[in-house]
Amino acid sequence: MAEVDSIILKELGSYQFESKQQQELDYLIKLCHENFEETDDDLIKRAFALSFLSHKGAVRASGEPYYFHPLEVAHIVIKEMSLDDVSVAAALLHDTVEDTSINLEDIQHEFGDVVAHLIDGMTKISGVLKSRESKQAETFMKLLMSMAEDLRVVLIKFSDRLHNMRTLKHLPKPKQIKIANETLELYAPLAHRFGLFRLKSELEDLSFRAIDSQGYRFISRKLREKKEAREKFIQEFMQPIRDQLYKVGFNFEIKGRPKSIYSIYRKMVTQQKPFEDIYDLFAIRIILDPPHAREDCWRVYSYITDTYMPMPERFRDFLSVPKANGYQSLHTTVFSSNGVKVEIQIRTRQMDEIAEKGLAAHWKYKEGSDGTKSIDRFVHWVRDVLDNPRPDAAQEFVQDFTLNLFSDEIYIFTPRGQLLTLPKGATPIDFAFEVHSEIGERALAAKVNGKMVPLRQKLQSGDQVEIITGKNINLNPDWINDVVTHKAKSRIRQFINMKERKAIEDGREMWVKKANKQHLEISDQDLVKVANKLKYPSINKLYYDMGLAAFDVNILARAVKDFLSRGRIEEEKTRLEKLTDEEIQDQYYDNARTAGSMRGLLLNGDLTDVKYSYSKCCNPIPGDEVIGFLSRNGDVKIHRTNCNNVGYLIKNDNERVVEIGWPKSTTAHFIGAVRIIGEDRVGLVNDITTLISQTMKTNMKGINVNSDEGMFEGTLIIYVEDISHLEKVIKRILRIPGVKQAYRFE
Ligand code: MN
Repeated sequence: MAEVDSIILKELGSYQFESKQQQELDYLIKLCHENFEETDDDLIKRAFALSFLSHKGAVRASGEPYYFHPLEVAHIVIKEMSLDDVSVAAALLHDTVEDTSINLEDIQHEFGDVVAHLIDGMTKISGVLKSRESKQAETFMKLLMSMAEDLRVVLIKFSDRLHNMRTLKHLPKPKQIKIANETLELYAPLAHRFGLFRLKSELEDLSFRAIDSQGYRFISRKLREKKEAREKFIQEFMQPIRDQLYKVGFNFEIKGRPKSIYSIYRKMVTQQKPFEDIYDLFAIRIILDPPHAREDCWRVYSYITDTYMPMPERFRDFLSVPKANGYQSLHTTVFSSNGVKVEIQIRTRQMDEIAEKGLAAHWKYKEGSDGTKSIDRFVHWVRDVLDNPRPDAAQEFVQDFTLNLFSDEIYIFTPRGQLLTLPKGATPIDFAFEVHSEIGERALAAKVNGKMVPLRQKLQSGDQVEIITGKNINLNPDWINDVVTHKAKSRIRQFINMKERKAIEDGREMWVKKANKQHLEISDQDLVKVANKLKYPSINKLYYDMGLAAFDVNILARAVKDFLSRGRIEEEKTRLEKLTDEEIQDQYYDNARTAGSMRGLLLNGDLTDVKYSYSKCCNPIPGDEVIGFLSRNGDVKIHRTNCNNVGYLIKNDNERVVEIGWPKSTTAHFIGAVRIIGEDRVGLVNDITTLISQTMKTNMKGINVNSDEGMFEGTLIIYVEDISHLEKVIKRILRIPGVKQAYRFE
């Protein structure tokens, strides 16, 4: 192998070839001009020169000079892949980095980043192939797909493989079979996936020839034998259609298309039928030339079905719904006049190009108004298809291919060279959890390609990642926003949930202790209401904050007390609101009936001995203006005159309302409620209770206080003799420092 030094590299542009190589170069450039919108002749020339010089002295198994191979690959890239000049350069140089003294930096320096990137990608694929058994097809496929960022890498690799398959016969038989199997397993399905049908067929036929040369020879001989009869049949079969199409002025081509040898073989095997029975040996393609478009395919279809009987179950409309790989065509199978089944494909010239050459060909028809090269748009288009596969397309993939191919995956290497597949956007945290959940939990830092990086940095395909772990769990709940894998997400969530559950449990325990100590009884349902009042969406969230000491359990206790007292009043109100008129009246009659009697009550100005009771809705206290409501059996229910229920009762049953007056002396204890509002300060509650119980000698039924942002709000419930007693208490409360308001609480 020739050593190519830097002097030669510098002279590539002015290298003088011998006439044979000059002819080869001229032809290559001519092919480029015929097939590409634009060609950098100098780039092609320099690439050809370096390919020729770097491989000088090396020969292939066929005995030919080695540079024939890259040159042939370049031809395939031009004629069969319809790529671009940069790809041609990469094809010419694709084996230099691997096989010669030229390195990637030399390529980059001489030919630029794109050519270097393409060659690097191809070398990586070869590396993976060499280091791994082909049973790791999935890994290989995924690696290939990761190269989809620049599909040209894959397409040039296909071209390389195609040429190697075409020249396979020069290799020893065991090697032939190994390569052929690999081609059938890896390259052919992938070619199909890319819509490269012609490439797929050829790769399959060439592989089949290497693996089962007898079978291959048998089928190809049969095809040859039948060729004349087949062509005659097609000629006669198509004549009526042809006449019709001429008559309406169609511009078209008819191809009698024998099935590929391998596909006939597959059918014979899977359908267990002899060669003669494989019915769709007769397949005809009608290609419409411009200006005919899609709609015209349907016209052709109708001419055919006017002439021959179609088999409806064999009809396929890939015009309206193209296949995921871009394939468009109308398929129908009809019976010839003597009962032979003939499959017919109808498509436009453009559709045919796409079907034959893959999607790359498609972009020849698109003008680059935005100045982007057609190949770039093609790459974008394919990425788009891969990123947003349609539902039916997904199904097609599964059928075509048992492997899952996701272009949104990246391929990461462990320090030991193991390959891991991660979703795009994955970080070293994802990687760590993927390796082992313990590594994820203890991850402290990451090294990517030998450099320390933040754990949250997004990884790139091909990165080698090492995780530095600590002795203890270092898992940060905030990582949940930095991970994309299911595994990492669920482990971090588990961890968060565990922490959360513990905090909730702690908070709940704190509350239960507090509630027991203060004898607070509240239903779970009501506790949720209290939590909501404290601006918590759920009781667990409140427990959680208490567990983390972010909320004081005393505040909850006070809120519950407040709720319990207020709750009873509200409960009574809502209960009354819900009652029907009769129910309300009945209730008062009942109350009046069960009430005890008391001497000295003035009824309509007279002192009487009627039975009476105090209503609970307004808690009348002696001194209040009151009114009585007479029940049917003569009992009296006493309300304050400003009680809402009295207004209702007077309106509805005026005759039962009686005037009453308070008796002069009383020993009864009436309930009075006082609302107190003021500044929250230490000892305020104590000052109030001391005042009531010791100074005023008044019995307290209860006190509920709630403080919020320095404000104190409380309800005091006391037993009073009469209204003046209550007023005295209120006056005294108002004198307590910090109290701003105190009033009778209705
Ligand atoms: Mn090669």
